[in-house]
Amino acid sequence: MSRIRETILQWIAEDREKLVGFLAGFVRVPSPNPPGDTRAAAAFLHAALASQGVPVSYRTAKPEWPNVVGTFSAHRPGPHLVLNGHIDVFPPGPTETWSRDPWSGAIADGKVHGRGVVDMKCGTAASLWTYVYLHRLREELAGRLTLTCVSDEETGGTWGAKWLIDTFPDEFRGDCVLNAEPSTPGMVRFGEKGTLRLIFAVDTPGAHGAYTHVSKNAIKVASDLIQDLYRLEELPVAQPEDIKRAIAASVPAIERALGAGGGRILNRFTVSAGVIAGGIKINMLPGHCRLEVDIRLPVCTTHASLMHEIEAIVARYPEVAVRPVWTHSAEPTFSNPNHPMLAILQATVRSLGRSEPVASVSLGATDMKHWRARGVPAFVYGCTPNNMAKPDEWVAIDEYLHIVRTHALAAASFLSP
Ligand SMILES: [Zn+2]
Repeated sequence: MSRIRETILQWIAEDREKLVGFLAGFVRVPSPNPPGDTRAAAAFLHAALASQGVPVSYRTAKPEWPNVVGTFSAHRPGPHLVLNGHIDVFPPGPTETWSRDPWSGAIADGKVHGRGVVDMKCGTAASLWTYVYLHRLREELAGRLTLTCVSDEETGGTWGAKWLIDTFPDEFRGDCVLNAEPSTPGMVRFGEKGTLRLIFAVDTPGAHGAYTHVSKNAIKVASDLIQDLYRLEELPVAQPEDIKRAIAASVPAIERALGAGGGRILNRFTVSAGVIAGGIKINMLPGHCRLEVDIRLPVCTTHASLMHEIEAIVARYPEVAVRPVWTHSAEPTFSNPNHPMLAILQATVRSLGRSEPVASVSLGATDMKHWRARGVPAFVYGCTPNNMAKPDEWVAIDEYLHIVRTHALAAASFLSP
């Protein structure tokens, strides 16, 4: 491994300009989702891979949302590692709130600037170069390496990662998945919280605003319901000891990365009433109110058990009907924190002179949920989310190169005979 390691590090050092230019060029091809049309950015990746002489093709469910994939077998039999990153990015919002053109891909002050550079063109670039470098070393490695650069991640992955895994399971499930969504270099993520989106409809007869004895007020019922729903945040969470321990150990790092309080909600249910709409006129007692609620579930809990609690609450309100939005809900997922890939990532980062990243779970969702839900261990290690989903997104060039090194070395280590 030490010769392979030195070779990879030397290539990355020699390719510094090329790697930075590639990321800047990738940022300059807009791929905002919505609308999610990634054809130009996918073509940019396809051309880069073809010019490196590595196997590459398209697998496309919807014409505007292509996925760029490639695979090769190494010299000896061994595990199948899948690299995954997404091509689509958040929309930039009003351009006047940016200090540069959102698609500038400017290289300045030791940084690459632009929409999507941290979420996650930096990470997808790391996966792409890992694939290129390991292809050159395939005679010395074992197993198989597959690259999946997908569209549709920002809208749930139905036509990207999920479609690839379910349509071509033999090709894209693999034995383990490595992804470089932003995590901060101090953290490896082995799991992520789940989501449950709910729409509540409150219906009462309604009345004149002075006749409060005639009908229940739908807005008042909704506000009582909200109070009860927020008590779900106190639900106990049962987890295996190793998961509980790993998450507890990561709380200080999460607080540093996400701000005070971020650690406290890492392993708890959170409730957010996102939309409330009801009433027509101040002197009319409202007969309808609509409430939309976003609940996040800690790992090891399930939609089924949470829905049980929610139905018990709703049963106390005969005026309320609830409808889960399953298309925008996902179970929490996690992989074994004792899986070799996690230890490999930690050791690789240490070997590059940085402190060992802590293992944790993420508050938000990634495409890793699709692999984990199908029993494939999946791990995330990526850059700092500087201004993610905000104006003036940027990544430090040194950090980008660190992510490339870590992914290439960790993948090579996983595929070493
Ligand atoms: Zn992302």
